[in-house]
Amino acid sequence: MFDIQADFPILQRQHQGEPLVYLDSAATTQKPDAVINAVSDYYRRSNANVHRAAHKLAEEATTLLEDARTLVQGYIGASDRREVIFTRGTTESINLVAQGLQAYLKADDEILITALEHHSNIVPWQMLAQRTGAHLKVVSVDSNGDLDLSDFQEKLSSRTKVFTCNHISNALGTINPVAELVRAAREVGAITLIDGAQAVLHEPLDVTALDCDFYAFSGHKMYAPTGIGILYGKLARLETLPPYQGGGEMIEHVTFETSTYQQPPYKFEAGTPNIAGAVGLGAAIRYLNELPLAELVAQEQNLIDSALRQLKQIPGFRLVGEPSKRSAVISFILEGAHPNDIGTLLDQQGVAVRTGHHCAMPLMAHLGLPGTVRASFSLYNTAYDVERLVKAVDKATTFI
Ligand code: PLP
Repeated sequence: MFDIQADFPILQRQHQGEPLVYLDSAATTQKPDAVINAVSDYYRRSNANVHRAAHKLAEEATTLLEDARTLVQGYIGASDRREVIFTRGTTESINLVAQGLQAYLKADDEILITALEHHSNIVPWQMLAQRTGAHLKVVSVDSNGDLDLSDFQEKLSSRTKVFTCNHISNALGTINPVAELVRAAREVGAITLIDGAQAVLHEPLDVTALDCDFYAFSGHKMYAPTGIGILYGKLARLETLPPYQGGGEMIEHVTFETSTYQQPPYKFEAGTPNIAGAVGLGAAIRYLNELPLAELVAQEQNLIDSALRQLKQIPGFRLVGEPSKRSAVISFILEGAHPNDIGTLLDQQGVAVRTGHHCAMPLMAHLGLPGTVRASFSLYNTAYDVERLVKAVDKATTFI
């Protein structure tokens, strides 16, 4: 049994007189000392603005930022570091692409998304459809929480100009067959974007092998700070995509009449970047690179299987979603109780979960639920956490 919990100082906290059990990692992960110290060291030793490096600190800060880019490139298997763009997170990465595709789409083109998407992979496409007259099509989901692949095949056509889906659903934990979906979408000539927010820790990632045009994720879901994220894009796509925002750093030459832009990635990085966040992301990747990730993910999977087995024994427990491949999320309700009340009852027992629609309102509407209780795991969770979750859910049922 690998136990990395000691690396995460916040997980040593007590809540309600007992060790805090943190099962809300799909919302954000906790941070290891390695990341906290890297961010603190950056501000203590090297803080300066980047790129126009006329002095020592500026040179150090620039090196740290660019080292982080190289670490990300290695971690996701991008073939060129110019394919790695720093953003604020998954949401900004998706908006950057959706806005950039405005001139590419015409009226009656189609954008294909899925019923499993997070709002951040719905609304930017909806806005793009409104601006261009394109149509938003949605691949349906079956009662287990798996994508309906025959519906996908039916809705995919030469009119599909963009296909996007999440790698792993944050609401149900479904691991989508992204390689198969991307291959099919590419065959009809669609641009593909994968929302990897929930996948970067739990699935081995090789964006080059996956062959998607874009892959978006957030640092804070993989032990790095909030406010830093990544858009991976194939270089050829990035070269033709117009910039997202105008400002410093993204230009080559500016006159009052017109401006010329830098090459990727800088064309998409207007303004001072979140340097400390990038340093933290680099530190998180260094930390992850030292871990036996495959073993930790297998261990996490065993914990989830064990939690599911035990939770299903509790009278009134109803699992929401039985996908054929599940990642680190268990969504459930207790018969006769509102999910928010269950969340409060678990919190009173020192167990942190999330309740509500999980930014997937259309999916909840499809399931006919106001929301669910979601216990989400990360590589630092232990058998003790499962034991406490099961005990807390069992006790919650006595209050219903
Ligand atoms: N996509 C999925 C699947 C998510 O789970 C999340 C966050 O929970 C996001 C997108 C948005 O991420 P962020 O808020 O970090 O931009």
